[in-house]
Formats: sequence, structure tokens, C-alpha cells
Amino acid sequence: MSSSNRAVIIGGGVIGGCTAYYLSRKGWDVTLVEKDQFGQGASWGNCGLVVPSHVLPLNTPGNLKSGLRWILQRDAPLYIQPTLNPRRIGWFMKFALRCRKKEVHRTTMARAALLQRALELYEDIIGREQMACDWKRQGALHVFRSAREFKKFREVDAVSRRFGMGAEIVHPPDLAAHEPALQSGLSGGWYDPFVARLRPDRFMTELKRVLIDFGVTISEKTIFYGFQKKSGKASAVMTSRGPVEGDKFLVATGAWTRLLHRELEIALPIEPGKGYSITMEPSPGLPRTPCFFEERRVVATNWESGFRIGSTMEFSGYNSFLNPVRINSLTRGVLPYLKNVPALRNGEAWYGWRPMTYDGLPVIDFLPKFTNVMVAAGHDTVGISMAPQTGRLVAELLSGEPPSVDPEPYSLSRF
Ligand SMILES: Cc1cc2nc3c(=O)[nH]c(=O)nc-3n(C[C@H](O)[C@H](O)[C@H](O)COP(=O)(O)OP(=O)(O)OC[C@H]3O[C@@H](n4cnc5c(N)ncnc54)[C@H](O)[C@@H]3O)c2cc1C
Repeated sequence: MSSSNRAVIIGGGVIGGCTAYYLSRKGWDVTLVEKDQFGQGASWGNCGLVVPSHVLPLNTPGNLKSGLRWILQRDAPLYIQPTLNPRRIGWFMKFALRCRKKEVHRTTMARAALLQRALELYEDIIGREQMACDWKRQGALHVFRSAREFKKFREVDAVSRRFGMGAEIVHPPDLAAHEPALQSGLSGGWYDPFVARLRPDRFMTELKRVLIDFGVTISEKTIFYGFQKKSGKASAVMTSRGPVEGDKFLVATGAWTRLLHRELEIALPIEPGKGYSITMEPSPGLPRTPCFFEERRVVATNWESGFRIGSTMEFSGYNSFLNPVRINSLTRGVLPYLKNVPALRNGEAWYGWRPMTYDGLPVIDFLPKFTNVMVAAGHDTVGISMAPQTGRLVAELLSGEPPSVDPEPYSLSRF
């Protein structure tokens, strides 16, 4: 191994983990530094859906309207804690400005580039490494109570069709055949065949096993404090367990990235967008197909090993309180759709901080004050889906190879 092939990755989430995977496959000597346990940030208890068709960002005129309606309701799908903090106010204003049609088009194209090959890339990793993570390419059902919302989904579907995907309409009489767990009286559904599900905690556990087999050093309970730097080039990361030397570096610290502005010598506009999930044992009568309960923005995912409902978006800073109001909103969110409401009280509640940028795109770029340090963070609600293509792209850029997707839309210069 050449001594100039040492990569150090900070952050053991799905983004850091997938990058470590692709770098190892290219022959890099990789060390990954994680402040807690590998995989146990946002990448652990999320809904586990791989959704290449989710090309539209949250910044759309329709979402802005719903968001304003929900803004101060504590149990609505979106909750924004009132704030006088000028930085946070500025972030929300920029988010709102990005809801203009022209911006939505630009963002959609760039999201699609990271999402389009997600199923294929996951199938390659999971198949090649024989990962037991409840992977299944079974599609998902968007379910509607409101006839108006059901019809309006045609506009969302038209966008994914532009990228070679698209859903099929399921009229009310056919809903029960598609998903027997649904109540009668719903307005309809759209079945999106381009969705797969995996169990994210199992995927991350398996990814750790594969990385260790590849010879990656995973240093857990190791906090990153900054870089040793000479003439604009980092030579090591400073950690709570001492320095770790490297030739190239990646910061993949998800929602925590903004807190590292001194270490990175730049403030990145990434806010924690808190989401919750409840996981329970499998039991009869639960949905067999992943479902999006659209009006309540709640997602249900089934696996052989369990059942999870998740979602909600809470902007309340770096707050680790498991808020019962928000958790109950998940439980109440499934009531209008399912025949048998599962005994969610016995489930395991979890929260995670989604790394949210105000323009719906991650940052994948070299840091301006360093010649050999990249950042890959800000994958908002679709980090699981974007992770393989992001990892691949970062590995190509660090290796000086032609990138498989144009990295320009994810550059820091856009801020
Ligand atoms: C409820 C919910 C449901 C979701 N459902 C889906 C879904 O169905 N499909 C989908 O595609 N996406 C989904 N997401 C989004 C997805 O989970 C995230 O986008 C993704 O996990 C982000 O990955 P990451 O690696 O950037 O961050 P993380 O997984 O949070 O990893 C960052 C890591 O960096 C470490 N770190 C931070 N600071 C330091 C430091 N100073 N030193 C060392 N280590 C540090 C952290 O401990 C953490 O382990 C969901 C999210 C939530 C909350």
C-alpha cells in the first residue's frame, strides 16, 4: 500500500460508511473516526426506504403552504420552535426563497443525479457482500384520505416520470387487494414500484462487518477536534484518542457538521431536522407494503423482523428530548388509514437528526481552506437513498478519477 493512500473519515453514518466502502474497494487504507458507535446517528432508526423517485425537494410551493399552516401546531407533521436566533431565522427565509419554481427545477435535477442509481448500487453492495439487512425491492404505496390530494399527486408523479420512474394509480376498490391492512373509505393510492426497503440498523451493522473485513480501522468513542495543518494541507485529525494521520480526509458528520465551523474554518448552513420513529415486533394485520400516509406525512415500513412507523420534522435545535407530543402524533397519524392500529405503546421510540440544508441538496465538496479535506453532509430526508452514489462520488473525487456524476450542484460556492 502506498503511503499516500491513507484516507481518514470523520463520522460513521451511512454517508461516511458508504464512502469508506468505495474507498476500500479502490485500495485505500481507511480509518474511520466516530464519536459514539458506528451507524447509530440518523442512519439507525429511520424508515429504511430507498426512494429514487423522491427527486422533489421539501422546498416546493405546496409544502411551503402546508408548512405555514402547521408552523406552530405542536403535533403537526412539521414543528418549528419559535426562535429569535438570526441565524436560524435566516435559514428559514432562505428555505422559503428556494420554493420558487425555477429553484425547484434546478434542485430536482441535482437530487435525481444522486438518487437515480440507488437501487442498482444497493443491490450491488448487498449482493456482493451478502448483507443480511431485510432488503426487498417491493415498491411502496402512497395512500390518501383526501380526494384532492390524491388527484394532486399526479403532478409529483409527472416529475418522477421525467427521470424514467413513475407510479400506478390504485383506485379505492383495488386498495384492499394491494394492501389489506388499509381501512375502507380512503380516496385512493399511487403504487410506486421504484422503492426498496432495508432495515437500516441491520444494514449499518452489516456495513461495519464488511468494512472491518476490508481492513478499515473503525475508531469508536473517538471525538474529532480539528486538523493538524500546514500550508493549507491537513496532515492528521486531532481526536480525543490522539492524532490520526492521513493523506485525504472526509468530514461526514451529518447534522453535527454546522457545530464544527471552527475546525472546518467554514460555517455550513445545516440544521438538525428531528424525526421520530416507533418500532415493534411483527404482528398480523400490519401493512405488508411500505406506505406513505400522505396527509399526515407518516411512513410505515414492514420487515420480516419488525414494523416501524416514522417521520415528523421538528426544528428545535440540537435537542435530544423524546417529545411525547411528537411521538403521539406518529401514532395518531396512522389511525385514519389502518384497520387495526398496532399497539404502538409497546414499541421502541427513537429520534434522529436529519442533516437539513435550506436548498434540499447535500454539500459534497473540498473545504475552501484545505486542499485535501472534503465534506459530504446535508442529505436531509433521503440520506439512506443517496448514500451509495455519494460514497462513490467522494471516492472518485478523492482518488482524482473522473466523477460518475457532476459534483458542481453540491459545491460550497452556492452558499
Ligand atoms: C425519522 C427518520 C426517517 C428517515 N427515513 C429515511 C428513509 O426512509 N430513506 C432515506 O433515504 N432517508 C431517511 N432518513 C434520512 C436519513 O436517515 C439521513 O439523511 C441519513 O441517515 C444521514 O446520514 P449521515 O451519515 O449524514 O448522518 P448520521 O447517520 O447522523 O452520521 C453522522 C455521524 O457523525 C458522527 N459525528 C458527529 N460529530 C462528530 C465528531 N466531532 N467526531 C466524530 N464523529 C462525529 C455522529 O456521531 C454520527 O454517527 C430519515 C431520517 C429520520 C430522522
